[in-house]
Amino acid sequence: MTLTSEKRWSIAIHGGAGTMRPEIMDETMQADYKAALSAALDAGVAVLEAGGRAMDAVTAAVIALEDDPHFNAARGAVFTYNGINELDAAVMDGRTRAAGAASGLRHVRNPVTLARAVMEAGPHVFLSGAGAEEFGRDHGIETCDPDWFATPERWRQLEELKAKKLGWFDVDLKYGTVGAVACDGEGHVAAATSTGGLTGKRWGRIGDSPVIGAGTYADDRSCAVSATGAGEFFIREGVAHEIGARMRLAGESAQQAADTVIGEVGALGGDGGVIVAAPDGSTAFAFNTPGMYRGRADSTGLREVAIFAARH
Ligand code: ASP
Repeated sequence: MTLTSEKRWSIAIHGGAGTMRPEIMDETMQADYKAALSAALDAGVAVLEAGGRAMDAVTAAVIALEDDPHFNAARGAVFTYNGINELDAAVMDGRTRAAGAASGLRHVRNPVTLARAVMEAGPHVFLSGAGAEEFGRDHGIETCDPDWFATPERWRQLEELKAKKLGWFDVDLKYGTVGAVACDGEGHVAAATSTGGLTGKRWGRIGDSPVIGAGTYADDRSCAVSATGAGEFFIREGVAHEIGARMRLAGESAQQAADTVIGEVGALGGDGGVIVAAPDGSTAFAFNTPGMYRGRADSTGLREVAIFAARH
């Protein structure tokens, strides 16, 4: 009998970057977030351990994060200035560079499932608003009452922003977008991102998360990327595509490319971070905020969930 070497898989997830610091997050709160991240990681790992595809792993992990009110995606999404939840999501498959995205959703329970339907069941890459929701209904995507997304804590954050008259970007922003990237045992990568956007955003505003090449990208020739942060800057930098391009054309590692591009976002004035998974099974995190809710696991036994930057 010949022994075949284990096929290497990996997955990384994020639940947003921001100003979280140990002094403002007590132990219980930290443990809550870590448990939520761990559960999402488990959902993705289960797919990969069973020999499943990277695309199914990132979808499973993001659904778990969307359903968890700790994070700013689906249930627990932030509010627009006029008090509604408008959700954006995207997926991309590195095997074929097929992609699907949807923005401005108000009644889709798991926006990542609609992004995936856009990718798999129609000719388009990006649908928005009522048209996207109708497409979802036609393809059996679960809808819900907008109340499902609303939480008292997000409402309080909106009121606080309005009271402080902070303008569009709150200096204390805790971005809570969620995302996952993975490499499966066949060496294919995939990315998924889902968000409620930014607290107090103008209705109709679209951030980087559903924009292919900005908040989400996957290419087997380089890597899969999911971003979180001040979306306007991530769109201007073309963050997710730029990281892949640096790896593919300049031979940089995932960590080098991610560090460089997050540095460039910072130079533009933007905050946030990325997670990266490469076809060799390596993963990387990069962020210029004090923390990023994150986790990763791979077939070699690596497993971690973390909140703060190492320096904190
Ligand atoms: N990037 C998201 C946006 O700008 C926000 C976040 O990461 O929390 O819509």
